[in-house]
Amino acid sequence: MSKTIFEKIIAREIPAQIVYEDELVCAFRDVNPQAPTHVLIVPKQPIPRIGEAQPADEKTVGHLLLKAAEVAAQLGLQQTGYRLVFNHGPDAGESVPHLHCHILGGRKMAWPPG
Ligand code: AMP
Repeated sequence: MSKTIFEKIIAREIPAQIVYEDELVCAFRDVNPQAPTHVLIVPKQPIPRIGEAQPADEKTVGHLLLKAAEVAAQLGLQQTGYRLVFNHGPDAGESVPHLHCHILGGRKMAWPPG
């Protein structure tokens, strides 16, 4: 199987602004930001999407969520707030088949989402 674009970022085969990394996850700035702060946090092990995560992925997915909150705080969003988004499948607009959590902040968010 060919590598996903996010696996290539993790392997430093293509450039990205990495803001956090540990043994399980990597967080980097979205190349097409939808908010003043827009970071993606991804598992190093390429789970395709949230609805295909398995019981064995529980530690990784839980870790990813806790680190998403830590990264948001590190980026100065703790007080003003932020949104975490997972897109699963075509109706949600998923475009990269490698699980990723969007961390969006730095502006007011609308609800319901578009
Ligand atoms: P989604 O639509 O939920 O699948 O989100 C995929 C996200 O990946 C989009 O917000 C893209 O802008 C972002 N993206 C695609 N390629 C790159 C890249 N090379 N570096 C950083 N972000 C990327």
